Amino acid sequence: MIKPAYSWADQQINELKKRGLYRTLRTSESVPSSAVEIEGKEMLMVSSNNYLGLAADQRLITEASKTMKQYGVGSTGSRLTTGNSMWHEQLEKRIACFKKEEAAIVFSSGYLANIGVISALAQDGDIILSDELNHASLIDGCRLSKAKTMIYRHVDMNDLERKLKQARESQRRFIVTDSVFSMDGNLAPLPEIKELADKYNAFIIVDDAHATGILGENGRGSTEHFNVRVDITIGTFSKAIGTEGGFAAGSHTLIELLRNKARSFIFQTALPPGTIAATIKSIDIIEEEKSLIESLRSNIKKLQKQLDDTGFHIMEQPTPILPVLIGEAQQAAAFSNHLEREGVFAPAIRPPTVPQGKSRIRLTIMASHTEAQIQQVCQAFYTTGRKMGML
Ligand SMILES: *Cc1c(COP(=O)(O)O)cnc(C)c1O
Repeated sequence: MIKPAYSWADQQINELKKRGLYRTLRTSESVPSSAVEIEGKEMLMVSSNNYLGLAADQRLITEASKTMKQYGVGSTGSRLTTGNSMWHEQLEKRIACFKKEEAAIVFSSGYLANIGVISALAQDGDIILSDELNHASLIDGCRLSKAKTMIYRHVDMNDLERKLKQARESQRRFIVTDSVFSMDGNLAPLPEIKELADKYNAFIIVDDAHATGILGENGRGSTEHFNVRVDITIGTFSKAIGTEGGFAAGSHTLIELLRNKARSFIFQTALPPGTIAATIKSIDIIEEEKSLIESLRSNIKKLQKQLDDTGFHIMEQPTPILPVLIGEAQQAAAFSNHLEREGVFAPAIRPPTVPQGKSRIRLTIMASHTEAQIQQVCQAFYTTGRKMGML
């Protein structure tokens, strides 16, 4: 047998290793919670997206297993062929009601929602204006669209306006942005974006992945937080909601168009009923149990303050994403390894997820973290910071 020549792949892998950008998978061996077991070691979890701790909530598990027993584990086809069920329709109604929109469409993930929505709505002759720190799935959506993309500087409204002016002659303009930036935890200035959109006759597509279940009085997301209306809100069930799947919410007309044109909706097998039942239950809990969001908010403040006291400055913001900037990829990886030795699990975030020289530890706090756990995290940061000569 002739050995296939994959030396080009080996070379690329070695290059990644040399630059500190090689990625490895870590294996969790426990239920997702604020403390987990990873490869035989008990650790504090401060990097998961399970903000409200709902991923292992007994009520969701009961709902999912009951539904799975009754309706099976697979949906058998895409929504437009054999995969659609009353579960999917019920969830879409539930989302529309939760987001206070006319209609919603459910996708199998947030990633698929983003690529499907952008490529279906922004067409040949249109221009997409995209924040430079948008999530990869929004970027991929822009790449799949036949529209031209203009990237504006991060949350820079002057730059956005300049580009909207340049795009005046285009058929349509779509402003695309994360509402909560996933690696920085800061917010897009939606009221200002809305003003510009109105002035230049543009549509707004917002990715509410890290805002749904978190921002706003009732956890409805960024539009509730800012009290503004946008054209399409996209979201995921995989973060605060604790399950999986994605959605887009907006007017009847746009959702109807998406059902007919979004390729990641048309050519993807529908979510299984068990997951959907758990998702509906989760949204009910978020709406009914205000104490969950309140605990999360109080923990965000506590961790921000205590890390600041430790000597690591964290920007004050109302989201559970607290990035600690380290710099070079290798250094961030070393920091993360040190933290792990102190029993704290927070992997380094490196390029291409974040720009060069902006590698970081992306801390995320959960509603269920205790005071003692928050103190342990700060102690680990202190010890690590001292060891690495940063404090
Ligand atoms: C996680 C995330 C997504 C993707 O959602 P999935 O359901 O995991 O596919 C999209 N956008 C942002 C901003 C995210 O953080």
